[in-house]
Amino acid sequence: MKLLLPDSTTAKKPVQKPARKKTIYITFDDGPNKGTSSVLRVVQEEQMPVSFFVVGEHVYGSKWQQQQWDSLQQCPYAEIYNHSYTHAQHNRFAVFYKSDSTVVADFKRCQDSLQLTTTIARTPGRNIWRTLMITATDIAQSKTAADSLYAKGFTIVGWDAEWFYTGDSLKLKQSGEEMFQQIDSMLTHQKTKTPGHIVLLTHDQSFADSVDAAQLQRFMRLVKEKSEYGVEFVSRYPGLKQ
Ligand SMILES: [Zn+2]
Repeated sequence: MKLLLPDSTTAKKPVQKPARKKTIYITFDDGPNKGTSSVLRVVQEEQMPVSFFVVGEHVYGSKWQQQQWDSLQQCPYAEIYNHSYTHAQHNRFAVFYKSDSTVVADFKRCQDSLQLTTTIARTPGRNIWRTLMITATDIAQSKTAADSLYAKGFTIVGWDAEWFYTGDSLKLKQSGEEMFQQIDSMLTHQKTKTPGHIVLLTHDQSFADSVDAAQLQRFMRLVKEKSEYGVEFVSRYPGLKQ
């Protein structure tokens, strides 16, 4: 009879540590709107944690948007954060960011009306960061408004990379493959705010079309195939004020 004894040469080898995880945070802005339901379908199929920065008044825009909002809240793979109530008074960015009190009130209105459970926020039209570790403002004129938001308890998360779409036709500019390559390159060359962590900005409406939704699915599958990558909710990003 052959005894199955552990091989002493391999048994003594130290256990190889898994490669250090790199973390991707996939974020969707401006919902609930056209595109939210197809994003949710892909997210459910891939069982991938994603983050939605929603606009307060979009929830109340129509009965249909309220239904999208209900679906978002019920999705176990989605976390929901604040992207202001009026989206900078309907994209009037320069005027909006001039008034600290207007900006704070708009974010508070979104927070209160949607009863959001975290203080994580993203400023419309501005790549601003205010965390315990990062302070960054892309356009200097918005600095005091961002400081006021942070002082009032919000923590602001911008983005490292953007999945662009054309404004008129809402078509994606990069394929899922191209977006994955860009993320991979930025992480490798440490071109992100926090090394080993990357925040990707996308918009619900750019995935309304089934061809574009398939690109999102392709991107998520490429991420899954690479074992050194993990995907997390934005609330897990290092150094957020809780
Ligand atoms: Zn936005």
